[in-house]
Amino acid sequence: MSARQLRRPLALAIHGGAGVIERQLLGAATERAILADLDRALDAGHAVLATGGSALDAVEAAVARLEDSPYFNAGHGAVFTADGRHELDASIMDGHGRRAGAVAGVSTVRNPVRLARRVLEDSPHVFLIGGGAEQFADTQPGIERVPNEWFGTDARREQLRQAQQREQNAWQASQDLRGKYFGTVGAVALDAHGHVAAATSTGGMTNKRWGRVGDSPLIGAGTWADARCAISCTGWGEFYIRNAAAHDIAARVAYRGDRLQTATEDVILGEVPAHGGDGGAIALDREGHVAMAFSTSGMYRGWIRPDGTRGTAIHHDP
Ligand code: ASP
Repeated sequence: MSARQLRRPLALAIHGGAGVIERQLLGAATERAILADLDRALDAGHAVLATGGSALDAVEAAVARLEDSPYFNAGHGAVFTADGRHELDASIMDGHGRRAGAVAGVSTVRNPVRLARRVLEDSPHVFLIGGGAEQFADTQPGIERVPNEWFGTDARREQLRQAQQREQNAWQASQDLRGKYFGTVGAVALDAHGHVAAATSTGGMTNKRWGRVGDSPLIGAGTWADARCAISCTGWGEFYIRNAAAHDIAARVAYRGDRLQTATEDVILGEVPAHGGDGGAIALDREGHVAMAFSTSGMYRGWIRPDGTRGTAIHHDP
């Protein structure tokens, strides 16, 4: 049945990460290229919704498109670990039925969000890590594999070089963590059946070590969806984990009756910074309300509202 026949509102929102995004450093040509890639991700997700596809398929399509862009810290373009490799994390959640799949520390899966989806569909588990997740990927014919070097770009290698240089000064290194993680990607969608879903994918933080995993693949921290709303977060993952940020936004809507935008702002501009973290989130409810908030200077983002209006933005522009 097509979306038109069901006559339900459709909506989609995406992010490409929050952080310190200086206009001057970005440059006009790069900014245009980033906005174009956000637009392509919106198109990929919306094409699914407009033909009656599920919110789950839409967020997977939008996030996979962002993973393929070199501008975002997920898939191709992921940040480097301290030992010059890439370890990728992703999760996906279907609000209708509360199904979820997640992977962490994968190193050869081109689109980690697609592997997270396979975990949701084809395994009895929710969360697979490292070598085990790679073994599971071996059993999934549709999962494209690439050598680990494929994820790297010159810009990310330069970020690692700078981070390691600054690391020699311990105080500066601790300051460096703030705002140095932007580029994680995520999507939230509402389909013609009134179901919502969320997905998030990341390379984590530049110079990470010891198998560090952030909030992005953790259900309830970086990603959440239930019958009412769907949320994808980006930011300093340790603080999003400690605050169960994505679930906290949904809980405020469910238990206190908060408006989605109020709940999103209270967590992202209130709770997370109050504990020392920063970042952003996108959220969407089953009425099609889109909520966004970020405590950093920018968050790459895009949206298509139920009335068909769409946009992309980076900074706090109106
Ligand atoms: N939240 C991600 C992490 O901590 C990073 C990001 O959002 O850019 O791994």
